[in-house]
Amino acid sequence: MSKTADYAWLDGKLVPWANATMHISTECVLRGENVFEGIRAYWNEDHQELYTFRHADHIARLRQGARIMRMTIPYSDAEIEAASLELIRACNYRETIHYRPVVYFAEGELTHYLPSEIRTGFFILAFSMPSKKVQETGVKSAISTWRRNSDLSSPSRIKSGANYHNSRLAYIEARMNGMGPPVMLNAAGKVAEGPGACVMIVRHGKLITPPVTADILESITRETLMELAREELGMEVVERDVDRSELYVADEAFFCGSGAEVLPMVSIDHYDIGDGTPGAVTRKLQQLYNDAVRGRIEKYRPWLTPVWRGNAAKA
Ligand code: PMP
Repeated sequence: MSKTADYAWLDGKLVPWANATMHISTECVLRGENVFEGIRAYWNEDHQELYTFRHADHIARLRQGARIMRMTIPYSDAEIEAASLELIRACNYRETIHYRPVVYFAEGELTHYLPSEIRTGFFILAFSMPSKKVQETGVKSAISTWRRNSDLSSPSRIKSGANYHNSRLAYIEARMNGMGPPVMLNAAGKVAEGPGACVMIVRHGKLITPPVTADILESITRETLMELAREELGMEVVERDVDRSELYVADEAFFCGSGAEVLPMVSIDHYDIGDGTPGAVTRKLQQLYNDAVRGRIEKYRPWLTPVWRGNAAKA
């Protein structure tokens, strides 16, 4: 296991990593009753700066998920941002990281409690997370035998811990079959998403991705790439249902997510995608994304928040 952070942020304060514990009787532990975010902060060596990427958009999604779960987050946006920066600075991160704000239900008794009958807590974790080498070579994927959670039962638009049991079943099946991350179909049999990332394809020169009604998480990377493709590559971007068999004839395909970044798919169900190597559009989007998140494109700086300069300004 990689080195853990020095601190976590738990219910209002920084605590040493080893002391960031909660009781085994909490709803969060017993039933995975939480909503969380996975946000990256990117180190820019030239600027000697760490930039959080689209923090405010992630927190807006956290609030959306919490609302559906009927959870009230006990902190304001400003408090969550201040706590996130406090944690990252306390851990002295000067490298690319991932941080995870989590809102959770604490001590409860029965599953039918009202939100007013239970304490809602909040914690933030941070991890070192360099970009992965596999971005260059891409992954072999397969259609999972597991269907993505349906909006009729456990909405995928909520980034809740409990939804990731579905993801894990799909991941381990794929691993046991010697494959990279799989693609999950929704209950209607259309392409939904990967277990931890959205899916995009290139066909006939257009960037195509399943709509937010396809049982997907409303991914911030997906939004980012749609904007980059339109603005920087002048591409037509289409949000529509995608059939499984379209993946077999796509010119390019890739996963996208805060953790996965832009991850090329080089084959699916043993069909080569394109010539079996990462496609040209995928590579261009990857480059644009990697530059935008590190503050190398002026136009997209509003998406970033400097961690260290922000600190100096306040000092
Ligand atoms: N779908 C799922 C199931 C995910 O876990 C993630 C990662 N958060 C994504 C999509 C991508 O979302 P984002 O781009 O906001 O990280």
